[in-house]
Amino acid sequence: MKKELIVITGASAGIGLATAKQFAKLGHPLLLLARRVKPMQALNLENTICMSLDVTDRKAFEDAVRLAESQFGAVGAIVNNAGIMLLGNIVSQDPKEWDAMLDVNIKGLLNGVHAVAESMVKRNSGTIINISSIAGIKTFPNHTAYVGTKFAVSGLSENLREEMAPHNVRVITIEPGAVDTTLLSHTTDESIKENYNIWKEDMGGVLSVEDVSNAIIYAYNQPQNVCIREIVIAATKQL
Ligand code: NDP
Repeated sequence: MKKELIVITGASAGIGLATAKQFAKLGHPLLLLARRVKPMQALNLENTICMSLDVTDRKAFEDAVRLAESQFGAVGAIVNNAGIMLLGNIVSQDPKEWDAMLDVNIKGLLNGVHAVAESMVKRNSGTIINISSIAGIKTFPNHTAYVGTKFAVSGLSENLREEMAPHNVRVITIEPGAVDTTLLSHTTDESIKENYNIWKEDMGGVLSVEDVSNAIIYAYNQPQNVCIREIVIAATKQL
């Protein structure tokens, strides 16, 4: 059977890159999107379009999806994974960092939903996978703005699920605990970064990117009439 097109944002690193590799192994054509195109091209995947895209650019996002559809047919699923985590103390953090997280983590994700929703509703089929976080269901020190964006992702995804359900479109929310990626590296406050790394070590390790991509593939691979609404996945020792 012909495999459907999968769109993955933030596919140049971490969870997105691991997810791209797994979908490619299953034989899916892919549209891979991130600002850095080289790490995606370096995967050397067949039937794959790699495009440099900032998910906050709504028009470019829509254009990229239409281009991939003209080559591979309608989008079967989108993994809205692109995200940034700029931890900070609310008093000292530069508010520009909140703006950036709100733009990428919330608006960028909604741009992804918008780029595929109409055609999924028309076809009465499709899957939207939104990468939230355990920080979308509980709080952590110095996470105020980031937690705000991830509670937004978990909340809007559940609302979207109800909106899309009558159209046979699945909406799946993935809420990982700490994962071994470059996510923390963009935080500018060195002492917060250091404490976060100590917390990870004390915990005895975090998830691998494959732990999370396995969960994504598991949820996607259910039949279209089965919707895994939410997966919370974290290292066993994470509280
Ligand atoms: P990485 O930093 O390793 O990867 C983030 C990806 O997002 C990169 O491919 C990056 O690509 C992309 N990205 C960032 N900003 C933009 C943008 N404006 N436009 C397009 N792409 C962008 O982090 P992770 O793999 O850890 O993060 C993936 C998702 O998982 C995020 O949503 C994160 O919040 C979530 N998550 C991560 C956890 C963790 O502990 N690591 C825990 C829970 C959730 P580029 O820079 O090339 O644009």
